[in-house]
Amino acid sequence: MEAGSAAAEPVVAAPVAPGADVTAEIIRLVDVSKVYGSGDATVHAVDNVSLAVNEGDFLAVMGPSGSGKSTLMHILGCLDVPTSGEYRFAGEDVSRMNERELASIRNRRIGFVFQQFHLLSSMSAWRNVELPLLYRAARDRKQMALNALAQVDLTSRVQHRPNQLSGGQQQRVAIARALVTDPTMILADEPTGNLDSRASREVLEILTGLNKSGHTIVLITHDPNVAGVAERVVEMADGRLRDRVAA
Ligand code: ADP
Ligand code: MG
Repeated sequence: MEAGSAAAEPVVAAPVAPGADVTAEIIRLVDVSKVYGSGDATVHAVDNVSLAVNEGDFLAVMGPSGSGKSTLMHILGCLDVPTSGEYRFAGEDVSRMNERELASIRNRRIGFVFQQFHLLSSMSAWRNVELPLLYRAARDRKQMALNALAQVDLTSRVQHRPNQLSGGQQQRVAIARALVTDPTMILADEPTGNLDSRASREVLEILTGLNKSGHTIVLITHDPNVAGVAERVVEMADGRLRDRVAA
């Protein structure tokens, strides 16, 4: 292995051509680690990871179960803080933020999509999508929710409750909920993990379309076929990250 080669210089997602517009850096991790437990029970869930993601990138983080993907996702999503290392989100030092500042980033700047959808079962699709907007006094919340549902092709299901929708439709509602705040980045952890192959394809097509329209996406998966839709794939193993070697 390349022990000691975890350079402090993050791998840049796409080289910037001379004279090209400088794209904004959304994520910058430098030597980030997350350690659980102590003594014999110590787990280096994320081990010295450096990574840069620019605005408009579509990155997949791929690795087997237990490799540290969800721990990394929790750090990227400001749901958890690293044990050591530096994390900058859109230039701001997350490592120094208090809980209120972290909550604000989570709510306004990151859209989350989870394997289990996490929709509220008593609420209609549009009410679920409206939820991240409730901190706003905006009178146009319903219209924003309807617009987000239109983006995932669910205009005909806005009044349906989750148990009246297929798994694929529920995940599309969850994607609409992630989109509705116009986040800086969409973070999806195994978004197709509970879906059949057709619904998986639809969800991946939606994510691809969102990326084409300018959204920055980080997709976490154990499945190489899922990772294959991203423009760049990094692999995790035992908490460490490396760029996938082109075949
Ligand atoms: P993945 O999402 O790739 O399956 P995880 O990030 O969930 O991997 O887990 C990475 C490693 O960290 C695993 O060995 C797991 O057992 C351990 N781990 C995850 N969360 C905790 C925790 N809260 N406490 C202790 N160990 C944890
Ligand atoms: Mg996981």
